[in-house]
Amino acid sequence: MHEVAAVPAWVALAYLVAGVFFILALRGLSSPESSRRGNRFGMAGMTIAVATTLLTHEVVSLGEILIAIAIGGGIGFVIAKRIAMTAMPQLVAAFHSLVGMAAVLVGAAAYLNPQAFGIAGVDGIIHQVSRIEMGLGVAIGAITFSGSVIAFLKLNGNMSGKPIILPARHFINFGTLAAIIGLIAYFLTDQDPWVFWTVTALSFAIGFLLIIPIGGADMPVVVSMLNSYSGWAAAAMGFTLQNTAMIITGALVGSSGAILSYIMCRAMNRSFVSVIAGGFGGDAIAANNGPAIDRPYKRGSAEDAAFLMKQAEQVIIVPGYGMAVAQAQHALREMGDMLKEAGVTVKYAIHPVAGRMPGHMNVLLAEANVPYDEVYELEDINSEFARSDVAFVIGANDVTNPAAKTDKTSPIYGMPVLDVEKAKTVLFIKRSMGGAGYAGVENELFFRDNTMMLLADAKKMVEDIVKNLG
Ligand code: NDP
Repeated sequence: MHEVAAVPAWVALAYLVAGVFFILALRGLSSPESSRRGNRFGMAGMTIAVATTLLTHEVVSLGEILIAIAIGGGIGFVIAKRIAMTAMPQLVAAFHSLVGMAAVLVGAAAYLNPQAFGIAGVDGIIHQVSRIEMGLGVAIGAITFSGSVIAFLKLNGNMSGKPIILPARHFINFGTLAAIIGLIAYFLTDQDPWVFWTVTALSFAIGFLLIIPIGGADMPVVVSMLNSYSGWAAAAMGFTLQNTAMIITGALVGSSGAILSYIMCRAMNRSFVSVIAGGFGGDAIAANNGPAIDRPYKRGSAEDAAFLMKQAEQVIIVPGYGMAVAQAQHALREMGDMLKEAGVTVKYAIHPVAGRMPGHMNVLLAEANVPYDEVYELEDINSEFARSDVAFVIGANDVTNPAAKTDKTSPIYGMPVLDVEKAKTVLFIKRSMGGAGYAGVENELFFRDNTMMLLADAKKMVEDIVKNLG
């Protein structure tokens, strides 16, 4: 074991306080009501951590660091301001790739100049424990980088969402992973550059190989998994840099990302292994959606919808991805308010994977000031549809599809869904009978007797309903 330089007590304390702030941030983010407070705790924790790091290290050029922070922060600020909510998953993927690359660069800097990092003796021999930390950090960082770049390209539409299946891919992947682990072990006995750089190159390659076979529909789970990897890469680098705040933050990101991936898999009824093995979702399945257009269905107008809902005792609103695309949340809140004034009970039902990222619908409804106590999770509201007069489905599709309950051949079979069909009337807003949901499968509900299709852009339709309610 190498000697760890003694850390002044105030530094240890400052990092501990930063760690506590990060834990409070995660706690705050667990509910929409406290999420702003959670974000503020996170910002405060990060400010303490960065300031402590700058004060305790012999900073060669503070000016350069501040300029870099200003440029990076400025770019981040502009991107965050401009980004559409619908593009959030790819933005998150792009940012993870930066965390992965940062871990690789820190690892490479430490490898090339180990004495400056205090991880080598005067002879330049890197301490064994540091070699493991460095090897793991660089490997996880490189996997996170290339995996996130592919996730970004798929989500952003620059690359087909279709799974790309290489022949003998399991063999290639296991072989590459085994080689990386073997070389990290060998790195303990030989710190020759070829070992370090081969680990780095193979890790970049495996990140790419692991993500290309994964289809579009599973990509958000992958993004959350890569989020977890980026945390572990940062934690490994925290050991190399002997920085407690980085170890704590990395471990928090790593474990919360892993938990989120697990929750998402459960909500979509996918096993983690089947996501990683890949092959679900994408353009191929979406192509199946043709013939349904010819089947008979009931079409209604904004006037019909307003009339039905005014008569209702209870209306349950089910938002989905289409509401986000149309940015219909404000008009929807207005509609909800008018119905409440007319004596109708209004509730919102949120499916855990509605939209394109966890919490997508909650964020949009919160932005439109929908009261939190009107918003219900799937398990708390599902029994209520049978007691409701209207289920108002706005831009949701897969999360209402009963095929998930009945059709064993459906790619969404087993996913828990909202039982909207149990309401007396189901109103479905979407733009066309042809457009499928993310999983690309047909929804039987559009053709049922108690369904009325409201074919229009979600925002336009809700605005028209509001006019008719007035
Ligand atoms: P879907 O993607 O199933 O359906 C969206 C619907 O919105 C379509 O029917 C589409 O039909 C309609 N739509 C699109 N734009 C508009 C518009 N401007 N106005 C009106 N309607 C519109 O959405 P869901 O929210 O029901 O389901 C989410 C899907 O995403 C699930 O399959 C889930 O597994 C997947 N997913 C979600 C994740 C998450 O974290 N939330 C993660 C991973 C996957 P049309 O084109 O005809 O208008």
